Amino acid sequence: MGALSLTKITKSFGPVDVIKGVDLTVNDGEFCVFVGPSGCGKSTLLRIIAGLEDATSGTMRIDDADITNAPPSKREIAMVFQSYALYPHLTVRGNMALALKQAGASKADIEAAVQRASSMLSLDKLLERRPAELSGGQRQRVAIGRAVVRTPKLFLFDEPLSNLDAALRVNTRIEIARLHRDLKATMIYVTHDQVEAMTLADRIVVLNAGRIEQVGAPMELYNDPDNVFVAGFIGSPQ
Ligand code: ADP
Ligand code: MG
Repeated sequence: MGALSLTKITKSFGPVDVIKGVDLTVNDGEFCVFVGPSGCGKSTLLRIIAGLEDATSGTMRIDDADITNAPPSKREIAMVFQSYALYPHLTVRGNMALALKQAGASKADIEAAVQRASSMLSLDKLLERRPAELSGGQRQRVAIGRAVVRTPKLFLFDEPLSNLDAALRVNTRIEIARLHRDLKATMIYVTHDQVEAMTLADRIVVLNAGRIEQVGAPMELYNDPDNVFVAGFIGSPQ
């Protein structure tokens, strides 16, 4: 259970309209990738979905629940950032446990959830380290593990691989794909990398200046783009 629907979502920062009316349904269990040029509103849209930013207008639902005005902690959504955003003073275990602790989970439940996530992401041997003692790839795995621990209905990834070198990018991408298969969770993944988009997505959403240009399966967009913008972005001949 984790279908997301967005209806007429807009966002303005002062006089600047950044999201200009987005209607979108992401199906339960779907891997949906947002692509689009820098500044087109991808991160803003994710932050609105996560509740880190209020929409100016529009409504959002997860399954039957209206989450438009729900605080982030009540949304059952976990977000993974490009910058990892780990707490430097906490160990890997502490970082992964924190959200559950704050939610009042029992010690045994926290331990079981951290164990499960760390074995999924091969973090078992790193649990007592602090972020400064980890490589970039390991830090990003911890950030993903921290999301997994919360068993959210919806995972949001904002360019999670862009700080990693090429080899690690491939490995981590494969890990995220495997996670999606194992958890059968709904995922929205922002990238400007066409290979990531084509290999990970069930459907790709092409954004341009705060609007959706086209939504479709990767090969659909590749073979049958609606316009030159989509063709250029997905990489098909124009
Ligand atoms: P993307 O992630 O696609 O690169 P963003 O969602 O980060 O784009 O930004 C979309 C637009 O909104 C940009 O023009 C950016 O400058 C603007 N923007 C984002 N956050 C704020 C903010 N807090 N205040 C003012 N403008 C913002
Ligand atoms: Mg962004």
